[in-house]
Amino acid sequence: MRLALAEAGRAAEGGDVPVGAVVLAPDRRTVLSAGYNEREATGDPTAHAEVLAVRRAAAVLGEWRLTGCTLVVTLEPCTMCAGALVQSRVDRVVYGARDDKAGAAGSLWDLVRDRRLNHRPEVVEGVLADDCAHLLTDFFRDR
Ligand SMILES: [Zn+2]
Repeated sequence: MRLALAEAGRAAEGGDVPVGAVVLAPDRRTVLSAGYNEREATGDPTAHAEVLAVRRAAAVLGEWRLTGCTLVVTLEPCTMCAGALVQSRVDRVVYGARDDKAGAAGSLWDLVRDRRLNHRPEVVEGVLADDCAHLLTDFFRDR
């Protein structure tokens, strides 16, 4: 999560909402990829930290299935990212701060654990939640 927080800081430098993500290999130690929110920087509405990290991890592995991998992100995934995580077949989603307004991994929706889907990653929430949330509140206060 410390690495994801560092990624989030890079997003803020570019004027993007500070959200960062990393994908860990099945050994849960090796970092396969990282990403941070680049919507403003790239003008791409899908350039969320999780989507970018998942794409890069798949490129590193040379296949779209991220079986056994863990995605770590500073903010609870939105519906788009939750969908991408289910599609990528990650085994674990670890996030920091909850997103009561748009979260799709336990707050507003729980898409990643929807029993109607045939792939449901394990979810761990609240890791360094205060640090992750403070980064966001500081960013919005400064604007
Ligand atoms: Zn998202």
